Amino acid sequence: MTAPRLEIDLEKISDNAHTLVNALAQKGICVTGVTKSVRGCMRVAEAFTRAGITQFGDSRVGNIESMRQAGFSAPITLIRSPMMSEAERVVRYAGMSFNTEIDVISALSSAAEVQGVVHGVVLMVELGDLREGIMPGDLIDTVRRTLRFPGIKLKGIGTNLACRSGVAPDEKNMGQLSALANIVESTFGNSLDIVSGGNSANIDWALSGADTGRVNNLRLGEAILLGRETLHRRPIKGLHTNAFSIVAEIIELKVKPSRPWGQLAQNAFGETAPIADQGTITQAIAAIGHYDVDPMGLVPPSGIKIIGASSDHLILDVGTTHLRVGSEVTFDVNYSALIRAMSSPFVTKVMTVMRRHRGAKTVIH
Ligand SMILES: *Cc1c(COP(=O)(O)O)cnc(C)c1O
Repeated sequence: MTAPRLEIDLEKISDNAHTLVNALAQKGICVTGVTKSVRGCMRVAEAFTRAGITQFGDSRVGNIESMRQAGFSAPITLIRSPMMSEAERVVRYAGMSFNTEIDVISALSSAAEVQGVVHGVVLMVELGDLREGIMPGDLIDTVRRTLRFPGIKLKGIGTNLACRSGVAPDEKNMGQLSALANIVESTFGNSLDIVSGGNSANIDWALSGADTGRVNNLRLGEAILLGRETLHRRPIKGLHTNAFSIVAEIIELKVKPSRPWGQLAQNAFGETAPIADQGTITQAIAAIGHYDVDPMGLVPPSGIKIIGASSDHLILDVGTTHLRVGSEVTFDVNYSALIRAMSSPFVTKVMTVMRRHRGAKTVIH
C-alpha cells in the first residue's frame, strides 16, 4: 500500500463521539462536532452523525464549502471569527458564525439580506485566555448593536479558553459565562439558545460533577478524534486514543555512528544538531518529514526512537527491532501531526469502514 499514509478508524471515532455525546447529555450539554482538524472530511462528519451529533463546526469556510458541495446539509457553524472579505461565503455556506467585531456582523447582515436569509451569530466573550472575545464589560453594548441588524439573529454567547494561554475552564470563568447569559436575557428580554462553554479543554470541568450552570454546548474536535482532554492531554476514560495512525516506509537502514562528524553549523531548520555520542546505532530513515507531518508529534512503537527530521526524512534509532528497507513503521499521532497530515497532499488517507466489513479498507483522496 502507498506510504506515507494516515489510517483513520471511523468506527473508533464514532464510538468516541457516542460516549461523549451521552456523558455530556446527562449534564444538559450538546456537542458540536468540530471537523477542522480533519479538513472537513465527510467520512468523519458521517461518523459523528452516526454517533448522534447533529451540529457541526469548522474554522475554515473552505472546509464548510467542500462539505456543502459533497451534499452535507446539517447545520455548520464557522467557529473562527469571519474575515470581513469572506462575509458573503460565510453566509452562503454556514448558517451561523462566532463573532466579536460589529463591523464584521454588519457585513454578514448585508450579505444575508442580499441572499434573502438570516445568519445566526454567537458572540464570543473574553474570559482570560486572551484569544478571541468581546471584553465582558462591552458585551451588553455589542448585543444591543447586534440586535439591530436585520440580516442577523443573535443565537447566543460563547467563550474559548486554553488554546492560546492554557487558561483552564473552571467554576469561576464558566460561572461568569452563565451570569453573562442571564444578564443579557434580563436586559433584553430575549432568550439565548446557545451558551457555548468551550472546547476539548472543558471535558474535565464538564464531567467533574461541577455545576455546569447555563452552559449547554461544547465544541469538540480533539477529544472525539484523539480521545484526550487537552489541558493535560490525558486519555478520557472509555475512549480510543488510536483512531488515527501514520504509516511510513523505511528507505535506508544502516549501522552508523550516533555522532555527526565535520564542523557543525545549522541544519535545514536552523537548529544545531545534538552531538551526544552513543556509539554506533542502527539508524533507519523513514520517507516522511516536515512536508507531510509534524515529526515531533509522532509517537513511535516501543523500541524505536525518533532522533531527527528534515523536510522529507525521519531519522530513527531502531534499536534491536527487526526492520528492513521496505518495512513499514506505524506511529501514533498528536493533534499537530494530525492536522499537518490531513492537509498534506503527500499523505494518503486510508479509512477503515464499518465494522460489518471488518478488515475492509477504502482509500480516499
Ligand atoms: C478548534 C476549536 C474548537 C475545537 O477544539 P478541540 O480542542 O479540537 O476540541 C472549539 N472552538 C473553537 C473556537 C476552535 O477554534
